[in-house]
Amino acid sequence: MIRLHDTMAREKRPFVPVNRERITMYVCGPTVYGRAHIGNARPAVVFDTLARLIRHEFGANSLVYARNVTDVDDKIIAAAQAEGVEPEVITERYERFYLEDMGALGVRPPDIAPHATREIGPMVAMIQRLIELGHAYEAQGHVLFAVPSDPDYGVLSRRDREAMIAGARVEVAPYKRDPADFVLWKPSPDGVIGWDSPWGRGRPGWHIECSAMIRAHLGETIDVHGGGLDLIFPHHENEIAQSRCAHGGLPLARYWVHNGFVDMGAEKMSKSLGNIITPAELLAQGHKGETLRLALLSAHYRQPLPWTEALVSQAKATLDGLYRAAGDAEPADVDSGVLEALSDDLNTPLALSRLSALDGGTLKASAQLLGLLQVSGDEWFQGGADADAIEGRIAERAEAKNNRDFATADRIRDELKADGIILEDGPGGTTWRRE
Ligand SMILES: [Zn+2]
Repeated sequence: MIRLHDTMAREKRPFVPVNRERITMYVCGPTVYGRAHIGNARPAVVFDTLARLIRHEFGANSLVYARNVTDVDDKIIAAAQAEGVEPEVITERYERFYLEDMGALGVRPPDIAPHATREIGPMVAMIQRLIELGHAYEAQGHVLFAVPSDPDYGVLSRRDREAMIAGARVEVAPYKRDPADFVLWKPSPDGVIGWDSPWGRGRPGWHIECSAMIRAHLGETIDVHGGGLDLIFPHHENEIAQSRCAHGGLPLARYWVHNGFVDMGAEKMSKSLGNIITPAELLAQGHKGETLRLALLSAHYRQPLPWTEALVSQAKATLDGLYRAAGDAEPADVDSGVLEALSDDLNTPLALSRLSALDGGTLKASAQLLGLLQVSGDEWFQGGADADAIEGRIAERAEAKNNRDFATADRIRDELKADGIILEDGPGGTTWRRE
């Protein structure tokens, strides 16, 4: 029996899906305007691990996992303007990088990856419904959600009204009836990405994207909704309000699961603080994707994770030991102690300590449930540049080419060639082979 900590209930609850044959999970995905940092990778790895556990428990085809791609956003528009390109040049580039970086960490792609720009219809329909029901209103080309129309607003974050207004850093805007009201739709001036709508040409707010895409792909109530702790307020609070009000009071999700931050010293890792370190950089330094994955799973997902060089070297040493203990055995049955630890609210530190007492096929199968020991021992210990590092370098080179920095792109190709790695550019991207 899996138990999950549910942020709504403030406690661990037995995980009982509505339909064991179609379990639904949605995780808020990346806004694609820059390279993901290791803090962004944590939810991808945590929810990938939860997906593996659910599939182990309920069956390989039991889960529908959706993770969205936010590909329309003010930061994307600003990045596109700064480079003098269309927004999709930015979003396609960084989505590709995101998938490459997460792939290197052993994160399987979700079953569904809805893109905001392709789901404007369902968003407009949900906004119209909220207006009809008196939960939203149009003002000066904007549509806003009327927070006072929802008596249950704040149920997830349990903030009082003053804290919510302060926490949302709500802009004073003359078109808002209430300072806590939030944007569902906003106008796009000429030259800025936008779509025709009943309220003029514009674009969606961020929160409505997830509500509309969950409804379109998974249903009105899903089993698990996940994301980082920082999304509880306002993003998830707003998703809940929109969906519940549009769906006659039905809850949006039955379990709310939130991961803690990766921090650098005293501060949370964040782009705005400028203290980020990316998987691409770590891979380019020669660290393997599995090492980074184990480092990310070494703390319980709800706890903060301080990112240090010692953490990475410890993870590498642990994996060396596990690969030696597994030998070249074929995966056997998963160890009951490892399964028990993971089933207890994804207790990965306990699961990892239990792995260290195992060997052979049991170790291999149990580690693979955490997305570890995915290659052969020979491949793990072989000398020379390893695949993840090469992929990281290829990704760096692609970014350089996108930035028209051909000198850097050529230098990366030459450096890899010196290591005996040949790159081949094709219509589907760059592949590599050993000389
Ligand atoms: Zn979301």
